[in-house]
Amino acid sequence: MDHFLYRNGVLHAEDVPVAEIAVAVGTPFYVYSTATLLRHFTLFDDALDGMDHLVCYAMKAASNQAILKTLAQAGAGMDVVSGGEYARAKAAGVPGDKIVFSGVGKTAEEIRTALTGGIRQFNVESEPEMEVLNRVAGEVGVVAPITIRVNPDVDAKTHAKISTGKSENKFGIPIARAREVYAMAGAMDHIEVIGIDVHIGSQLTDLTPFELAYQKVAELTVQLREDGHDIRRLDLGGGLGIPYARSNEAPPLPTDYGAMVKRTVGHLGCEVEIEPGRLIAGNAGLMVSEVIYVKSGEGRDFLILDGAMNDLIRPAMYEAHHDIVPVVEPAPGTEQAPYDIVGPVCESGDTFAKQRMMPPLVAGDLVAFRSAGAYGAVMSSEYNTRPLIPEVLVNGDQYAVIRARPTFDEMINRDTIPEWL
Ligand SMILES: *Cc1c(COP(=O)(O)O)cnc(C)c1O
Repeated sequence: MDHFLYRNGVLHAEDVPVAEIAVAVGTPFYVYSTATLLRHFTLFDDALDGMDHLVCYAMKAASNQAILKTLAQAGAGMDVVSGGEYARAKAAGVPGDKIVFSGVGKTAEEIRTALTGGIRQFNVESEPEMEVLNRVAGEVGVVAPITIRVNPDVDAKTHAKISTGKSENKFGIPIARAREVYAMAGAMDHIEVIGIDVHIGSQLTDLTPFELAYQKVAELTVQLREDGHDIRRLDLGGGLGIPYARSNEAPPLPTDYGAMVKRTVGHLGCEVEIEPGRLIAGNAGLMVSEVIYVKSGEGRDFLILDGAMNDLIRPAMYEAHHDIVPVVEPAPGTEQAPYDIVGPVCESGDTFAKQRMMPPLVAGDLVAFRSAGAYGAVMSSEYNTRPLIPEVLVNGDQYAVIRARPTFDEMINRDTIPEWL
């Protein structure tokens, strides 16, 4: 469920008409719903009720300070994958002991920053990383709490670009070698093994791959405890999918996911962390864009929007589907026609949808891309010297710009000219 509904024939973000925001900030823009963000966080939090747990929002999905603050104030921890994200989490007021550091390529510099600023744990992904962590922790004079990310060799059955738990993927260490690597960690002076981490991919629409992975983690917990490790925390990653096409998708709910977590690892007495990103932010955001032209082509018609692949790259990058709806609700029984919906960027890949059935639209009409809250704004670029589009947060009947659109001068002045020119 989200909070973007038609009321009196116009699309609203909570209690604010989307068209009103368009007038105020111009198009295209992203708009997020506070109520949806909080609802999704709470669903996860409640689903793990009865277990010692922390929901660590995977902030790479949408990392605006206002979004982080909204979730942090509700009690969320953060899963960060870079020094920049760590700095963002701290700037949003998240205490170090609620920040988990994931990622295959943490630099010594990033590790030092997190050790100095405070960290809940590092999810270590390789032996060389563990050696660097041990060395830097020694230099800083602390002991670094770690889990080791294991790769369970489970097929997440999702898009290849967001599948991470197969043996061919770059992530984690093969679960078959886990005991050996834990032994190595156990012998290091500035590392304390506290648990196990697993994350098998994103946009999973079936619980089975999670269940297979978590069963393997449960078995490993028992083995590692036999080996003398005090395994007391399990980080189970993120990855639960969302319905991108409302008409025909119904992925499992956080409630079902929570029940499965309890079933697979509940008996171990571990504290549990989960790292949802997409499910918290995805359906909490729209991208709103204006029709610039309706162009008749050879055998097909194009809707040319002012939003483009640089603003929302998911269709070009992952062949992703987004429902695209008119901001003014079509009258019941309005006939629809197929359009290719495209942006103005000079690439054929700048196509949001092919032969999508839409009601009649004319230049100046607004459309909204649903489910654009996750991996939307964060993956945008200024390709074609198109400004990063504004982000707006709605809360009830209030809204605020949480990232402004830069001016052309601001963009150009970020470049510097060498003295010989
Ligand atoms: C991306 C990522 C997540 C979040 O995945 P979602 O599909 O957005 O829930 C969680 N943990 C790690 C380590 C990740 O890389």
